[in-house]
Amino acid sequence: MPKKPLGVLVVFTCFLLCLPLSATAARTTYVTIGTGGITGVYYPTGGAISSLVNKKREEYGIRATVESTGGSVFNINAIMAGDLEFGVVQSDRQYQAYKGLAEWQGRPQEKLRSVFSIHQESVNLLATVDSGIKKLSDLKGHRVNIGNPGSGQRGNAIDILAAAGIDFEKELRAVGLKPAESAKMLQSGQLDAFFYTVGHPNDSFIEATSGHRKVRFVNIGKSIIDKLVKSYPYYITSTTPISYYPGAVNSADVPSVSVKATLCTSIDVDAAIVYAVVKEVFDNLEAFKAMHPAYTELTREGMLQGLTAPLHPGAAKYFKEVGLIP
Ligand code: GLU
Repeated sequence: MPKKPLGVLVVFTCFLLCLPLSATAARTTYVTIGTGGITGVYYPTGGAISSLVNKKREEYGIRATVESTGGSVFNINAIMAGDLEFGVVQSDRQYQAYKGLAEWQGRPQEKLRSVFSIHQESVNLLATVDSGIKKLSDLKGHRVNIGNPGSGQRGNAIDILAAAGIDFEKELRAVGLKPAESAKMLQSGQLDAFFYTVGHPNDSFIEATSGHRKVRFVNIGKSIIDKLVKSYPYYITSTTPISYYPGAVNSADVPSVSVKATLCTSIDVDAAIVYAVVKEVFDNLEAFKAMHPAYTELTREGMLQGLTAPLHPGAAKYFKEVGLIP
């Protein structure tokens, strides 16, 4: 006789306990944005995007989180594997992945989609003054970080060294460290120079140029810059603003080439999610721009430039609504 009411009670309690859980699960979709090392600009960029999206969590049912990663190449591969919904990716890497070049030679990543572009990233080379490195050819024989596998900058370092006729495998003591380690190792004397493709200002360069060991931004030279701009569709000329790094020994801005940081996703990501991300960033662009000095020059129109992979339909829907594309 007491068995039946007890059974009913257990079932009823389970129902009550499970109800809020299943309701929450149905309401919230978690999306992750892959970024870069925490001392770069991608990591705060993921934070800026997610903070705007998460303000509307109730309305969209989307919760965005940020992951620190090895950089552009890692992000593209993780998006394609379905491990990340979004990733910040250099425009040159987006181009190569979609067309099946470089790391993706013969394997075009046809599901890759662009969302919008963000800040400019210059290709930089920093060296300690005591290493005597003042130009590219001085790198020979030195301990040089060309960038971790998975980063965007590794490809840029290889392009520059190839343009200068330097065989990085034979002529350098090349290492593949993450950018967060580079600044410390430069200051401790374990590294002579490192390449890093990144927006400004960034904590890595502030750290690298603020220690007791004097550091310079090395000018890669006009002939290399011209060669890169001529040979590749994604490099444009630029300068590294030295005012952000008063500890560096340079007295003037340093000429280089740059690419753009872009936000990428996969065709498999729901259009409603991509639409929500684009709408929150574009509708609140002034608030977004206030979140990092690297965004000062951003304009709505400019944020549609530097994209190679087709626009994701969720992004295209927003851009059509506001008249940015026909
Ligand atoms: N451009 C770098 C990369 O693609 C990351 C720069 C950053 O984290 O700001 O790996």
